[in-house]
Amino acid sequence: MFSIQNYTVESLANQFGTPLYVYDGNKIEEQIGKMRKAYEGTNLKLKYACKALTNINIMKLMRKNGVDIDVVSTQEAHLAILAGYEPHQIQYTPSGVAFSEVQEAVALGLRMNLDSLPLLEKFGQIYGSSLPICLRINPHIMEGGTIKISTGHKDSKFGISIEQADEIYEVVKKYGLRVVGLHQHTGSDFKNAHVIIEAAEKLFELAYKYFPNLEFIDLGSGFKVAYKEDDHITDMEKLGKGVVKVFNEFCEKYGKEVELWFEPGKFLVSECGYLLARANVVKHNPGRNFVGVDSGLNHLIRPMMYDAYHEIVNGSNPDGEEKEKYDIVGYICETDTFGKDRTIPVVNEGDIIVIKNAGAYGFSMASNYNSRFRPAEALVYNGEVHLIRKRETMEDILKNQVMLEL
Ligand SMILES: *Cc1c(COP(=O)(O)O)cnc(C)c1O
Repeated sequence: MFSIQNYTVESLANQFGTPLYVYDGNKIEEQIGKMRKAYEGTNLKLKYACKALTNINIMKLMRKNGVDIDVVSTQEAHLAILAGYEPHQIQYTPSGVAFSEVQEAVALGLRMNLDSLPLLEKFGQIYGSSLPICLRINPHIMEGGTIKISTGHKDSKFGISIEQADEIYEVVKKYGLRVVGLHQHTGSDFKNAHVIIEAAEKLFELAYKYFPNLEFIDLGSGFKVAYKEDDHITDMEKLGKGVVKVFNEFCEKYGKEVELWFEPGKFLVSECGYLLARANVVKHNPGRNFVGVDSGLNHLIRPMMYDAYHEIVNGSNPDGEEKEKYDIVGYICETDTFGKDRTIPVVNEGDIIVIKNAGAYGFSMASNYNSRFRPAEALVYNGEVHLIRKRETMEDILKNQVMLEL
């Protein structure tokens, strides 16, 4: 039987029902430890990109481990504050938001990361030199697993083009803006570790030329994690060695010990998460077998949206000798495949199917499509299990609908 720490998936499914997201809190701590180790010898600050998994208890766990937060909306900032963060521990990295939201973020006391020239101009007009800011630079590097999740290339909407450095500087001078950080985020799942060094070097050049008062350089995230065995992943230790070397050389030349920031999402929470679903039906069609489970793209959209591969296990019988090839599909009324042609131990109706690496961009991208409830979430931590989000009910589905007398 497949277990998460000391809990079998059957016992978790029986206690909380299915579909169910389960997170292993100790795995998150391991990942934090790996990052800290990889960047030893620098003044490292970790910011958890909480859009990956926004349950408030996960944020609390990050806080307990000394990890700050990166948010992309003021709503996420409110959650972080509820999780106990001080506003100055929250970096706000929006993309193309209304200026009113930027003002709200300022009022909350968040650290600002600005991503366009028009925004910089407006910000300058209103706040001048009164607030420290960070600039999100687009270094024009094509990376990231697919074009859908790549953010640092020339045609990406993100950041201020590095080719507009002179224009940035004009605005900064005009309003006396206090630039204390430079940021880049190349996109998720980059394959070549050296791109982050390439991007870093572009930021260093900007720093030398225009920004003498930096407090930090933020190298974003995009670390690739293993979704299947022998997947090409970011070797954090090796990458760390390379980054530490160029970063320390930068600090020396710059004449100041600046902080090195990263804002990982997936790297911290992907592997900790499992989506548990029950096999509703096992269907043997001519030429193809299907396992239909009580979940779907409404709960985990990555396979359909990004063609993401998630390892799938028959949690009720993970080591069974007798195997069969299946497509594992959801219960949504459109094509809704979690995994194709997976050879796993024979599945019987009622078995618990475990979809791995479901911690990042799983629940946080879930919807009520087909008017299905979103799953419950449970956290296993130090050998104890806690419910951290209740399953939805019909009330949640109806909450904001306005009933007319028709
Ligand atoms: C989404 C996001 C991240 C996290 O990316 P991962 O690939 O999940 O690590 C980091 N920084 C910014 C600005 C983001 O938008």
